[in-house]
Amino acid sequence: MSNKIVAGNWKMNKGFTEAEELIEELISLFEKEEVESEVIICPPFPYLEIATDYAQDGFFKVGAQNISPFPCGAYTGEVSAGMLRSMEVDYCIIGHSERRKYFNEDDKMLTAKVNQALENKLIPIFCVGEALPEREAGKHFEVVRRMVRHGLFHLDTSEFAKVIIAYEPVWAIGTGVNATPQQAAEMHAYIRTLIAERYGDDIAAQTKILYGGSLNAKNAADIFSQPGVDGGLVGGASLVAEEFFEICKKA
Ligand code: PEP
Repeated sequence: MSNKIVAGNWKMNKGFTEAEELIEELISLFEKEEVESEVIICPPFPYLEIATDYAQDGFFKVGAQNISPFPCGAYTGEVSAGMLRSMEVDYCIIGHSERRKYFNEDDKMLTAKVNQALENKLIPIFCVGEALPEREAGKHFEVVRRMVRHGLFHLDTSEFAKVIIAYEPVWAIGTGVNATPQQAAEMHAYIRTLIAERYGDDIAAQTKILYGGSLNAKNAADIFSQPGVDGGLVGGASLVAEEFFEICKKA
C-alpha cells in the first residue's frame, strides 16, 4: 500500500448500464495490474448498490457524493447517512464547491452533514478551496482557513481524526487548469498547520489531504509526489476507466 488515496467523483454522469460498464472496465484493469493506493469510487446515488456489490471484490471502496444534513424523516428527496451506511457505503464527499455554489450549502449545513456522516460511521471527504478572484486577490489562505475551521473544527480530536480533507481550488475544477504541484503543496502544508494548531502535530501529520482539480494521467505523478499531498479527488478523469486507472497507479 502506498498510503495514498484516489477518489473518483463521477458527479451527475452516466446511465445505469454505462455505470456498470465503467465499474466492470475498472475491475478488469485492477485485476491485470495491482494498484497500491486506496481507491474510492463515488457514483451517483442510484448506482451505489452496483458499486457496493462490485466492491466486494476488494479493488475499491465506495463513497456517496452528498448526504442529507438530517438523520431521517419527512425530508422528501433526501438521502441520509444512515441509509448509505446500511448499504455499505464507507465515504461521503461533503462541501464540494458545486454543492456550495448551486445548492447554497453554507457552513451550518456542512457542519450538520459532517456530524451526520461521523455519527453513521461514514468517512467525510471534506472539500475546501478558493475561487479564482480570491486567489488573484491573495485571499486563498484566508478562504481555506475559514472553510476548514467552520466546517470541521467543532469536532473533537477522535472525530476529526477520521476526516479526509480535499483541497480543490475552484478555478481548477473541470477547467483543465490544475494547480501547480507547488501551489498544491503550499496549501496542503498550510492546512496542516491549521490542524496542528487545533489538534496537535500528530493529528496534523496523519490527516489525509487530497488534491482535486483537473487531475489526469499526465499531471498526477508530479502532484502526488509533493510533500503533504496524500492523493487525489478526481472528477472528469474518473469517468474513463483507463485514465482513472493510470491516476490510481501514480498514487
Ligand atoms: C471534482 O469535481 O472534485 C474535480 C476535481 O473535478 P475535475 O477533476 O474534473 O477537475
